[in-house]
Amino acid sequence: MKNNNYIIKSCLLLLVLLSSVAAANQVQGVRVWPSPDNTRIVFDMAAAPVHKSFTLNKPERLVIDLSNIKGGSTLPQISGESALIKAIRSSGDANKMRIVLDLNKATKTSVFALPPTPPYGHRLVVDLFDDSPVENIPPVAIRAARDIVIAIDAGHGGEDPGSIGPSGFYEKNITLPVATQLARLINAQPGMKAMMVRTNDYYIHVNKRTEIARGQQADLLVSIHADAFTSPQPRGASVWVLSMRRATTEVGRMLEQTERHSELLGGVAEIIKDSVNERYLAQTVLDLSMNHSMITAHQVASEVLLELDRIAFLHKKEPQAASLGVLKAPDIPSILVEIGFISNPQEEKLLKSASHQSKLAQSLFTALKRHFEKSPPADSLFAQQRSREHRVSAGESLSLLAQRYNVSIDDLRHINKLSSDSINVGQTLRIP
Ligand SMILES: [Zn+2]
Repeated sequence: MKNNNYIIKSCLLLLVLLSSVAAANQVQGVRVWPSPDNTRIVFDMAAAPVHKSFTLNKPERLVIDLSNIKGGSTLPQISGESALIKAIRSSGDANKMRIVLDLNKATKTSVFALPPTPPYGHRLVVDLFDDSPVENIPPVAIRAARDIVIAIDAGHGGEDPGSIGPSGFYEKNITLPVATQLARLINAQPGMKAMMVRTNDYYIHVNKRTEIARGQQADLLVSIHADAFTSPQPRGASVWVLSMRRATTEVGRMLEQTERHSELLGGVAEIIKDSVNERYLAQTVLDLSMNHSMITAHQVASEVLLELDRIAFLHKKEPQAASLGVLKAPDIPSILVEIGFISNPQEEKLLKSASHQSKLAQSLFTALKRHFEKSPPADSLFAQQRSREHRVSAGESLSLLAQRYNVSIDDLRHINKLSSDSINVGQTLRIP
């Protein structure tokens, strides 16, 4: 009996040890502690953090990558404030989380883990050292914000060359460099993050492409292709969105797969025990998200056409609806951009040129950024920046506020449509 007990206990202990090794980590809290010459940020962790960090400049940022992180990319509410930090934002991959601290100026940084000491558990500590304190800048409360995730799909790849131009050039070899450059532009933009569906010359099935985008919780899926026709004349770019008919078919298909309901409904599915109600709710959620994604896709497609019109000939001036390529996810806003006709000899030459490829990437980026500046997701950094407001107190001037928020006086005047520099106590100003 004693022996048995011992074995059971050892087994239990082993189980506990094994599960603590395998357990995914989680950020449970964020605390900011400012002092005159440094700021300490403490991330309360569920387990010992596995982390890497590096800094970027113009704009100044500290990037922390955490691995073995479970569940989503949203940070808990941040307590505390600092004059050094503009924003703390986060994004996530499967098992990974990236935290970006947007800083007001270049600072020395130090990132390290601390073991549990009551009352605290595991912690990841970030110290920002400030040898020349930012004068006259009262700290501003920091809110957690996430990056807008753009999934970029370079059409075709591997054994699938896509269309082949008259000179023998492959579509797959145009889509990848344009996609890669677009991703680079997006990743350099604070508040946006790109995720490449394929990163090199290999084949991925169309169904898998939308799954990858869904797995990354993408706000938008952009698929890049080049058009082709049997005669050499047709030319120009076009932008395609999911057709209503295909969207409805896909909704029906997703509803048939009951195992997908919980994926769609999140935690709610566990509360509803009744499959009829679950199906009804899944239908409602899908209809709502289908509406949202189709409207979003149409708006983005229009912005993209507006930009492409500046640098390329347009084959179609309006967004086109179709059920082609990756345009099959009713729950993710998706567009497919045909950047030109590879079957047209002149356009094939143009599409092969590095300078035209970078113009295309730049146009796509400008259009996407403008769309998300106009309609940012509520929990994104873009939304946070758009909603910054300041109520004027006694003794404050336009130049003081410009300094405090690290913006130019011109921008403040412009966004608030001020004809002079005089502001009144109690007046609410928008901060760009
Ligand atoms: Zn294609």
